[in-house]
Amino acid sequence: MKSINKYELLEKAILNDPLHQLFDAVDAISVQGYNEDRRVIYWNRGSEIIYGYTEEEAIGQKIEDLIIPKDMCEFVISAHRDWVQKGIEIPASEITLHDKDGADVEVFSSHVMFTNQYNKKQMYCVDINMTDTKNAQAQVSFKEHMLQTIFEATPDLFFLIEKDSTITDYYAGSSKNLYTPPSKFIGYKISEVLPADVAKKYNTYINKVIKEAAPFTFEYELMLPHGLTYFEARINYLPEYQQILTIVRDITEQHRSSQTIKQHAYYDTLTALPNRFLSLDRLSQMLNEADRNNENVTVCFLDLDDFKKVNDSLGHEIGDKLLIEAAKRLKKATRKTDTVGRLGGDEFILLSPGLHDEMSIKVVAQNLLEVFRKPFHIDGRELIVTLSLGVAVSPDNGTTVSDLLRNADTAMYQAKTLGRNAYSFFTKEMNTAMIRRFEVEEQMRNALERDEFEVFYQPQFDSRTQNVIGAEALLRWHNPALGNIFPDEFIPIAEQTGLIVPIGQYVINESLSFLSLWQTQQNNDFVMAVNLSPRQFRDKKLLKVIKEALKKANLSPDHLELEITEGVLMTGQSYITEALIELQELGVKLSMDDFGTGYSSLSYLRQYHFDVLKVDRSFVNGITINKEDRDLVKASIAIAHSLGLKVVAEGVEISEQLNILNDLGCDYVQGYYFSKPMPAQKFLDYTENYQRET
Ligand code: C2E
Ligand code: CA
Ligand code: CA
Repeated sequence: MKSINKYELLEKAILNDPLHQLFDAVDAISVQGYNEDRRVIYWNRGSEIIYGYTEEEAIGQKIEDLIIPKDMCEFVISAHRDWVQKGIEIPASEITLHDKDGADVEVFSSHVMFTNQYNKKQMYCVDINMTDTKNAQAQVSFKEHMLQTIFEATPDLFFLIEKDSTITDYYAGSSKNLYTPPSKFIGYKISEVLPADVAKKYNTYINKVIKEAAPFTFEYELMLPHGLTYFEARINYLPEYQQILTIVRDITEQHRSSQTIKQHAYYDTLTALPNRFLSLDRLSQMLNEADRNNENVTVCFLDLDDFKKVNDSLGHEIGDKLLIEAAKRLKKATRKTDTVGRLGGDEFILLSPGLHDEMSIKVVAQNLLEVFRKPFHIDGRELIVTLSLGVAVSPDNGTTVSDLLRNADTAMYQAKTLGRNAYSFFTKEMNTAMIRRFEVEEQMRNALERDEFEVFYQPQFDSRTQNVIGAEALLRWHNPALGNIFPDEFIPIAEQTGLIVPIGQYVINESLSFLSLWQTQQNNDFVMAVNLSPRQFRDKKLLKVIKEALKKANLSPDHLELEITEGVLMTGQSYITEALIELQELGVKLSMDDFGTGYSSLSYLRQYHFDVLKVDRSFVNGITINKEDRDLVKASIAIAHSLGLKVVAEGVEISEQLNILNDLGCDYVQGYYFSKPMPAQKFLDYTENYQRET
């Protein structure tokens, strides 16, 4: 406990009066009492809070050692002296003092002088902390300053506009953002300052913003000396001022970049044509328009013929260049109101509103084909690429984007099967055919797993002896949903989808294991003819599959005869030649199927090493009726024999045909005259009995 001397006691006596009790209770205000030596005699709770010294720490300390900043000490000491000695009051004032930590404390300080019962002068200071107020003030000015800085930093322009569209005030961070001096717009109406269409927009939004009391944003463009400039205006109504605040921003840059994004989103990067999305969107717009005006829209689906070949053989770079040139030609060949778009790959679309009759559509289609007749010149190469074109016209062929697109696609598909470089109009029949095709394709996907395929066998005979010499394996498909589907329908689809590869493997395995059974049962050297389609040659495993099947069935290769049509050879691909040579080296027999139906069968006969030639059914059918067919068959047999090939005549249905074929020297025959293709067991029974009979 700190000892209190007598003198101090004298001074303290007074401190227990009601006034001091009140001071003790307030903590928002600092009340300090000082004696004539400027030593603290009273220090209330408020002083502890504001200045940080406890009462115990403060009592007895001199004022200048506690809260007076150094540079003020002298002044305070003399002012105090003047008051004590000469009665000169210290006026109340705002001053900055220090707290215990030495930090500034802003106070409003008032002072009173008491004279106590011992005639001693006591100064009381009543300090109100101003720091918070000061801070608030500082914040206000800081905010003002910040706002100023923000205004300056932002390129936005601020305008205050009256309800009648008179511009009353503005703020521009930099005057160079203003395109006209203020004197030319302050006090003027919007319509006197901006072009009519922009002013109209402004006025519409001014009315809207007043009426709906909600902010609006709109865009407009102005032709300024430095070029076309895009602006965004955000406008809001300030009811307390009855003014409209408009913040205008130059968005030319954003506009430009969003244009680029749009360009990417809506246009094909390679050809710069509208992409699929935009094309179909335009089609949808055209359809709406056409519907209102009772017009039609022609949709042409365009596909480059054999583009894949160009890409595969000459590379993507040339492929891309070709697409660019093709796009240019298409664009040039169409009207302004048309849209030419790229749907992807080598697929394009032409949308033509308002072509009134079929004739004018045909003219357009014909013209497009014509435009592609001229060869393309790319990287010093001359390329001929034709088009296939499918046409669907609204509303007859559909009223929706997807229907029209699908139907035009179907028609294009038809054009391709017509032999390319052609156009075809969509018909309802195509649709039925298309739907059927999809069903077949769909069902075929798992048909192998579901064991729906069965190989039938049709016997082949020696024309002279009429002994069975072998059989042709012919595939059958029994599907629970579609019934029996014939190979003429499903083989081409299997070919296109590639499903022919596993299906063909199944036929090879099945027919060879059957052959092995047949040979053992009937103790004879029969030959099995199996059909191979072009797609199977692209399968790298073909040779392996054949070898393994032969091995598994324990058969020598010369018991297998592969029937190939001209279609296989026509593609002229090197891998086909290689596969044929390998097969031949393996010892498998090759047979030229459907001979006479193609164009250049003869040259292929010389080019490749065939063992058998199959005279097509259509000629066999004709030999009893017309001389031409008979001559053709005669010539075919002669050529075949001269090249060392055996001849099989297929489709022999009547004995006259058989007789003539015999006369012409045909080696083998096959046809309904003897037997239709049969399931394995039935075939075994048939051949068994047949041999016993003969
Ligand atoms: P293709 O190779 O020309 O087969 C001969 C077709 O003529 C068979 O039709 C056969 O049933 C039929 N035929 C045989 N004798 C006569 C006759 O006297 N009169 C008539 N009108 N027709 C006769 P199918 O079995 O419907 O096969 C059609 C085509 O499907 C075959 O023609 C062949 O190109 C293809 N094909 C059949 N099975 C397979 C196979 O396993 N693989 C491949 N890739 N194609 C196959
Ligand atoms: Ca055949
Ligand atoms: Ca044939």
